[in-house]
Amino acid sequence: MRFVEEYRDPALMRGIADAIVRRATRRWTIMEVCGGQTHAIVEHGIDQLLDPAVELLHGPGCPVCVTPLETLDRAAALAEEAGAIVCTFGDMLRVPGTRGDLFSVRARGGAVRVVYAPLDAARLAERTPDRAVVFLAVGFETTAPAVATAARWARARGLGNFFLLVSHVRVPPALEAIASAEDTRVEAFLAAGHVCTVMGTAEYEPIARRHRLPIVATGFEPVDILEGVALAVEQLEAGETGVSIQYRRAVRPAGNPAARAILDEVFEIADRPWRGIGVVPGGGFALRSAYHALDAERAFPLLAARAPVTEPAACRAGDVLRGALRPPECPAFGRACTPEHPLGAPMVSTEGACAAYYRWRGAEACA
Ligand code: SF4
Repeated sequence: MRFVEEYRDPALMRGIADAIVRRATRRWTIMEVCGGQTHAIVEHGIDQLLDPAVELLHGPGCPVCVTPLETLDRAAALAEEAGAIVCTFGDMLRVPGTRGDLFSVRARGGAVRVVYAPLDAARLAERTPDRAVVFLAVGFETTAPAVATAARWARARGLGNFFLLVSHVRVPPALEAIASAEDTRVEAFLAAGHVCTVMGTAEYEPIARRHRLPIVATGFEPVDILEGVALAVEQLEAGETGVSIQYRRAVRPAGNPAARAILDEVFEIADRPWRGIGVVPGGGFALRSAYHALDAERAFPLLAARAPVTEPAACRAGDVLRGALRPPECPAFGRACTPEHPLGAPMVSTEGACAAYYRWRGAEACA
């Protein structure tokens, strides 16, 4: 297939879904990891097509959603207290921190800019040598190589006013945490195809072996997702475990060597807090020592002095992100929490599960 419409063909979707339902001898529980997959599932009713055979749990794969509240407060402090220009992706501006979102920081006079690429922030620093420019670096292994490229670019030019507030997360340790939880219901994962495109699939092999479950690197279109589910169900029915690739038009077992090389040059693996999950061992990236001069956490002492913050009790984002609660089951969904007045990141982000249900199911989901 060559065109996106082919990957959204209703007859093809129905055919694959019917085959899955016929193959299943019981109802299986499968978690899709990525928020982009969640949106496709809810938009195209894939969960409803598969309902007799498969329960789809929505996983933690929304980079905006898993960024800790503290990180947003730190970005706000850099803009409002340190006088830095804070740059980030547009999705991050509406995520509420304890002192409001970054839009409100900007309304109060703080310098907050949206950029389309981390390199744009580095170039801004070059053009404004009298101001500190901080890029709020969030996202999975997919966005981290572009941040690493900006870091290398800035270091090569000796920029002394460009910094990174790093909150990058790694997917495999989060899957390990979810699979290890005592109350986990996950019997198979659909891994995020774009992350596997960068990193390959080797990191998932020990998780599949340890927890005896299938992990399928899966794409984002409806037919991709249904094919990923079909591969997972086939393995479950056959009693097999292991890693397989549905998203073959992008994923190679070794990933993208060039992207992995620059990641490895700039970042090292570090423990990292995930919103809703807690500190995940090895769950993120930190700058290597050669790049410590760019580390905002080291450059701005006011960040070290900040007290820990707690999540608002009304928001059940933590339960949503680990698949323990479907968004419509949150008491605030569609009532106190809407895209216009979000209580938590999953209602803000274009990849958030709560936003997916609100956008595509609306009143039906609230009922
Ligand atoms: S519906 Fe709103 S309050 Fe409930 S979990 Fe989602 S973002 Fe949080």
